[in-house]
Amino acid sequence: MSSAVFCADIGGSFIKFGVSRYSGKIEEYGKVPTPVASWQDFADAIQQLIDRYGADLPACTPLAISTAGLVSPQTGEMLATNIPAFTGHSLAKDLSAVLDRPVTAANDADCFALAEAHAGNAQNQPVVAAIILGTGVGGGLVINGQLVRGHGGVTGEWGHGAITRTELTIDGKNYPIPRLKCGCGQTGCLDMLGGARGMERLHQHFHHQENTSLDIVTGWLNGDPGSSLTVNAWLELVAEPLALLVNILGPSRIVAGGGLASATELIAALDVKVRGGVLHNYAEPLLIPGKFLTDGGLVGASVLGRMQS
Ligand SMILES: [Zn+2]
Repeated sequence: MSSAVFCADIGGSFIKFGVSRYSGKIEEYGKVPTPVASWQDFADAIQQLIDRYGADLPACTPLAISTAGLVSPQTGEMLATNIPAFTGHSLAKDLSAVLDRPVTAANDADCFALAEAHAGNAQNQPVVAAIILGTGVGGGLVINGQLVRGHGGVTGEWGHGAITRTELTIDGKNYPIPRLKCGCGQTGCLDMLGGARGMERLHQHFHHQENTSLDIVTGWLNGDPGSSLTVNAWLELVAEPLALLVNILGPSRIVAGGGLASATELIAALDVKVRGGVLHNYAEPLLIPGKFLTDGGLVGASVLGRMQS
């Protein structure tokens, strides 16, 4: 299909905007700050982007959105703690009424999963799990090309639930692992220890040092013992719930996104650990970095927009 789709990737800081005039192609037009406090200001910002970049396109050209937060498939209502303007709104329905054009929306992890399953490193795979190892931990699921939108918009969120251990044995030594209060209200979620911030929290816990995840991964690659302890503990903690997710879903491919996915050696080490802990014998790498590490939101939105139009 060659009809055009407006694509927006909405984060807590910026709106990235683009136009996909042909399937698989996006012209990206940079980004503007997200008006997080006011629904009206947010809607105006989107209208201005459409006016500026889509004047030549038909008035019925749809808008597809990748957004931070959760989108309920039942009500369309948003749960986006860092964008208060969305509170109480059905993003797609309310924006469609204001802009007078079809609007669809899915969360950014879901859009990343769609992008990878349709145009990225998991093309032609029947069961694609996408995991986000960003500030925290998230995920999405695409089966036979279709995004699985679970009840309440929650699918593939393997980072929540009390799933971290209280103790790990590494090189024959026992280490206590903190169970931290999570933003979701529970205690002991992987989300607090499994993303980039989580790796930094683990490092602080073991060594009482403030280091960035990039420094820690670099130290691990260079054989630094302190960084190696942190990364080895991180790998253990992340691999276990991920192996459980593999046993439940039977993915043919898992693609990783988020900041830590750029650390290819880290993802390769996690892949080996996960495959060592699952029932099926995967002969080839199961977990690989995604193709769309920076533009998965826009690419996924273009896939979503084409599927709905
Ligand atoms: Zn949680």
